[in-house]
Order: sequence, then structure tokens, then C-alpha cells
Amino acid sequence: MSLITKKIKGTEDVLPKESFKWQFVEKIMRNEAENYGFKEIRTPVFEHTELFARGVGQTTDVVQKEMYTFDTKGGESVTLRPEGTAGAARAVLEHAVLNDGLPVKVSYFVSCYRYEKPQAGRLREFHQFGLEEYGTADPVADAELICAAQSIFDRLQIKELHLEINSIGCPKCRAEYHKALREYFEKYKDKLCDTCLSRLEKNPMRILDCKSPEDKKIAENAPKVIDYLCEDCNEHFEKVKTYLDGAGVKYIVNPSIVRGLDYYTKTVFEFVTDYIGSQGTVCGGGRYDGLIEELGGQHVPSLGFAMGIERLLMLMDNQGIEIPKSDTCDLYIAGLGDKAKLKAFELIKQIRESGLKGETDVVGRGLRAQMKYADKIGAKFSMVLGDNEIEESKAKIKNMETGEQVEISLTESFAQEFFQVYTQNRNRLIAGV
Ligand code: ATP
Ligand code: MG
Repeated sequence: MSLITKKIKGTEDVLPKESFKWQFVEKIMRNEAENYGFKEIRTPVFEHTELFARGVGQTTDVVQKEMYTFDTKGGESVTLRPEGTAGAARAVLEHAVLNDGLPVKVSYFVSCYRYEKPQAGRLREFHQFGLEEYGTADPVADAELICAAQSIFDRLQIKELHLEINSIGCPKCRAEYHKALREYFEKYKDKLCDTCLSRLEKNPMRILDCKSPEDKKIAENAPKVIDYLCEDCNEHFEKVKTYLDGAGVKYIVNPSIVRGLDYYTKTVFEFVTDYIGSQGTVCGGGRYDGLIEELGGQHVPSLGFAMGIERLLMLMDNQGIEIPKSDTCDLYIAGLGDKAKLKAFELIKQIRESGLKGETDVVGRGLRAQMKYADKIGAKFSMVLGDNEIEESKAKIKNMETGEQVEISLTESFAQEFFQVYTQNRNRLIAGV
């Protein structure tokens, strides 16, 4: 077989035998978002480039190296979204959603695009689930947001995923800190990579997020932002910890977390694991009190997180967490001959209209092959229709597991009668008899 083309490097297909896993985690995420009062927002996959340049930050890796940016035929520069926060904030501002009363809490599922070196857990198209909350400076909101992420992981029965938190302060304390960082890194000027050299001038905190091993080593002994927090930021951080303690959420303070995007202020956090190799951050988030203003809005303190669905599924796989398969076929009707085939087609429609899952032959197989197929798709019940059954307007429903058979009529009440057999059987199963 020679295909004319294959999928683009760094992208993945989700095949039918795997999609139930995505549906399961998405269901839990949706459900938990609702429990916490977040409502879904959907935004376009591409935006004007300046949204990300300004929102995510000129000095971030995402903007400097990873964006899929192109000019449209009309000569506009557009970018495939590399993350979900900027688009959600843009939409909320554009439609004056913040006037409806604060806080505004939104959730989203987005595909994201970053030109990265593809490897396990690092793709060029990947998917995020995120929550964003606008219009609260209260540390209880930081704790509530972290709790929401933790409850999702708990409900998915994930273990060994550790919450690490830090505070990276506000622009006021950051000025002092940047000075200290510059002084420290000046001493290693001839050892830093080229990117970090330019970061030294523009945004020295970015050096702490450099992935090069030599720079990482130098960064180990750099001054810690947590020692430079102003009184207000310090108090905020202490309160976040108190609320997390109150909610029984376990965490460690990791003073090296700075996050990869420029918009963060005060609280930042990551959920990390050793179970999926070196790309171990499954979820990242924090407060971004300056973003809404940066995008042209008023001062609206806000916060959010995003989790990578591919990394999450990889983690669940590696921990052997079993994901329930979506329900299989309830009834398979096999038809023998033209008349029976037509009847099977009519009856299976009734079954589907009654809300159950039904299948019948659509490829012209013989009886044996049809029954083999019913077995393969895990049909709970089956029924064979031939000339006799059509004539008598009656047929036998067979329980595929026990072999037990019950006769039902092939009239308008067919679906209802089948439903009775189906529920009796299920009740017996539940009762264990
Ligand atoms: P990393 O440090 O691993 O590059 P990041 O700081 O760039 O992550 P964020 O922008 O905060 O990540 O995105 C939030 C989450 O999205 C990450 O924790 C991760 O689970 C997921 N993610 C980010 N980039 C990728 C990618 N290229 N492929 C798969 N998942 C990703
Ligand atoms: Mg990254």
C-alpha cells in the first residue's frame, strides 16, 4: 500500500478504539468544571498574531520560537493558538462578559499548536483543558482553582502527581528581583546560551526556565523570587497556603517554578509526575493580574490553569488506570433473506429511537458471519429473523452471555417488549441472581 501522504510530524490521530478514553476524561473535566461553577467558552483556532505576542509575552519561548504564524491572502498575520488563555481573555473582553458580574468563570477544551521538537509528551498539535477566572484578587480563588484541578485528578484516580506551588510576585517586587538576577547571571555571561544572553537584558527570569542543561545548572544557585516578595505578595501567598491546608490539598513549595508564559503574577503552580519521562508537567497555571490590562481592558485580577490531555492520558496508561469502555451494542438483529433484512432494518430503527444501541447487517453477510460479528461487537442480545419469524410476527431474543431465550412479538410494541427483557436482565445482574 502506498499512501499519498501521512500525518504531519508531531500530530496524533485518536482512533475509534482509543476515543473512549478521551471521552471519559473529558466527561469528568466537564462535570468537575460545572461543579465548580465554570461555564464553557469556545474560541477560534486562529487569532491575530499580536494577541499572543502581547498576551503570552514577546520574551517567551512560545512566542519567540514555537508559533505557527502565517500571512493570510489579505496580508494579515495570524497565528494558530499556542494556548487557550489569551483567546479566552480576548473573547471575554470583546463581548464585555465582565459586565455581567464578577467573577466570570470559564472552561475550555482547545487544540494547541507549537513548533516544538516532537518527543513523548511533546507534540506540535496537542490538547488542553483549562479553567480561567476573571475579577478576583482574593487568595481563596487561587486555592479554589487549584482544588478544581486536584479534584479532576482525584476523580480520575491518578496517583503520584505532585502539586508544586510558588509565588513570582507582582511587578513591584519583580523589579528588585530582576536586579538581583542580573547581578548573579552577569558573572556567568560567557557560559549562558545565546537566547539566555538576550533574556538577561529583557527578562532575566526567563533564564530560570531555560531547558539547556548548562544553563539549568547555573540557574540552580540563582536568587529565589520568593525571597524578594513585597509584603502584599507575601501575605497573598501565605493565605493561599492556608486555604489549601484547609481544603486538605497537599503541596510543596518549589521556589524554582517560574512558568513559561510572561503573564503570570503572584501564585504559580504545576502538577508534576515522574511517571511519564522528562515531560512530567501535566498541568500548569497561576494568577495573571496584568493580562486583561495588557490586552486593552481595565485592571481585572485573574487566574487560570491548563492541563495537557495527551500527557494526562499517558500518565493514566502508565499507572494502569482502567478507563470504563463506552457501552456496547444492546441488540443485534440478524436477517436472512430480503424480507427479513427489511424487517430487521425497521426494527433496529425502533430500538435506536427508544434510546438503546442497536445494530443490523449493512454489508450483506450470511447468517453465520452476522452472528460472528454480533459476538465481536459484544452485543448483549441477538435476534435472528427468517421467513418463519416474519410470517408469525414473533422471534426469539437471545441473551448472548447466558444463552437464555425469550420470545417477543415483532409489532409496534417491539422496542417496548425488548426494553422489558433488557431491564429484567439488568436488574437480575445488579441483584446478582
Ligand atoms: P513545558 O515546560 O513542558 O514546555 P509549558 O510550560 O510550555 O510546558 P503550558 O504552556 O503551561 O506548558 O501548557 C500547559 C500544559 O499543556 C502543560 O503542562 C502540558 O501538559 C501541556 N503541553 C504544553 N506543551 C505541550 C506540547 N508541546 N505537547 C503536549 N502537551 C503540551
Ligand atoms: Mg513549553
